[in-house]
Amino acid sequence: MACPDGASGLWVPPLAAAAPRGLCTDCGISRTAEPKRCGQACQFIAPDYPAREAQVHGRSRDPGRRDELHFGPFRRMLRASLRAPLAGAQWTGIATRLGERLLQQGLVDAVLAVAPDPTDSWRPMPVLVTEPAAMAQCRGMRMGYAPLLALLEPARARGFRRLAIIGIPCQVYALRALERELGFERLYVIGTPCSDNTTTERFHEFLALLAEDPSTITYLEFRADYHVELRFRDGRVREIPFLQLPISKLPADFFPLTCRTCVDYTNVLADLTVGYMGGQGEQWLLVRNQRGEELVALLGEELRATAPGSAGKRHNAVAGFLKNVERAAGGLPLRAMPNWLRPLMGWLMPRVGPRGLEFARTRVEMKAVETVLHLRARHPRRLRHMVPAHVWALVRPYGLVPREGERR
Ligand SMILES: Cc1cc2nc3c(=O)[nH]c(=O)nc-3n(C[C@H](O)[C@H](O)[C@H](O)COP(=O)(O)OP(=O)(O)OC[C@H]3O[C@@H](n4cnc5c(N)ncnc54)[C@H](O)[C@@H]3O)c2cc1C
Ligand code: SF4
Ligand code: SF4
Repeated sequence: MACPDGASGLWVPPLAAAAPRGLCTDCGISRTAEPKRCGQACQFIAPDYPAREAQVHGRSRDPGRRDELHFGPFRRMLRASLRAPLAGAQWTGIATRLGERLLQQGLVDAVLAVAPDPTDSWRPMPVLVTEPAAMAQCRGMRMGYAPLLALLEPARARGFRRLAIIGIPCQVYALRALERELGFERLYVIGTPCSDNTTTERFHEFLALLAEDPSTITYLEFRADYHVELRFRDGRVREIPFLQLPISKLPADFFPLTCRTCVDYTNVLADLTVGYMGGQGEQWLLVRNQRGEELVALLGEELRATAPGSAGKRHNAVAGFLKNVERAAGGLPLRAMPNWLRPLMGWLMPRVGPRGLEFARTRVEMKAVETVLHLRARHPRRLRHMVPAHVWALVRPYGLVPREGERR
């Protein structure tokens, strides 16, 4: 049932059913009046990143500009935090605070984002926010797929012409592909990076491996210092080194093929990307175009910002990861590190492993490696249309080159 937003400032229009699709993260397009648009909009069918980047930023990524091959076009990068972190936010709350500021300033009619589903706080529920204070309800990360773009039609029908969207890369790709025909007067796109998503149901299986009382976990984040942080309802906080995570206990299909093969980690088509990977313990902003500059300016003195740092070397970490993915893609179990070595490595990695921007480059290259190897193993014919040239350039230093028929 549609939830009126009069009092709460949150509107939850009803969703149509999703149309059956192959590789699909239910971005919402298949639930619209014209589900066939998936063919032109989908990141998993035949994405054209150079054309979309030129459409949005006025140019495609320039491999000659440091870091654009990895992170997509940008004007500047910042290591940043809100001086007063917001309660319940995933990091300090830059993403939702931007939505709040846009509404406060009357620059948009609504913000399209996700809030926790009332029946399961980990499940993302797409919402249209019309009151600044209601952005607080969207703070924090949900795990699972949110049919965000299904709300574009209700938004237009209700007369919203100026819209902001906070979304993950597979949602933003489809949005940009259809942006012109959607006909909004003004669109602000705040993107977050995204990787290793899975269905909400499967995510609960992961939580059950991490704690005896998984239903009391309220927060989880894979931090850039190689630890997962868990927060519990009673205020407890637990930090687990990545190497001590029970990843090898997860079933082989825990991460869906979509999320092991998507080709945009850093949300290259957003006006502003708000992540943490390159932030060394703070948030990481990529200001990609003039609209991104406008967004950052909305935060004024609330934002503390410095230049991002970079340290360590990624090559060996990515090469080792490639070997493990080759085993996994070939159906073999992940190689678990011997127990005696784990505490030592868990101590060493935050100190000598890639940090800051080098950590972000490492993760982007790892994701590119996964894309190529998993598609080769499961959908070899898709490589030709799904894998853009920049992904091949990222994996070349590790000996992965396109085979006959794998490139357009
Ligand atoms: C599945 C997932 C994986 C991520 N992986 C990475 C990563 O590897 N590296 C990295 O730097 N950042 C990643 N992020 C982004 C990161 O978790 C933070 O959301 C981001 O840094 C913004 O923090 P914040 O405090 O400003 O956000 P907040 O102000 O707390 O706002 C969070 C925003 O995220 C949106 N959101 C939450 N869950 C979802 C969802 N499932 N689908 C769509 N939108 C959602 C909400 O609408 C909200 O606007 C990931 C996000 C998601 C959803
Ligand atoms: S991800 Fe979106 S565009 Fe792609 S098939 Fe699914 S609904 Fe359609
Ligand atoms: S990992 Fe990629 S495909 Fe999966 S939800 Fe995130 S952006 Fe979408």
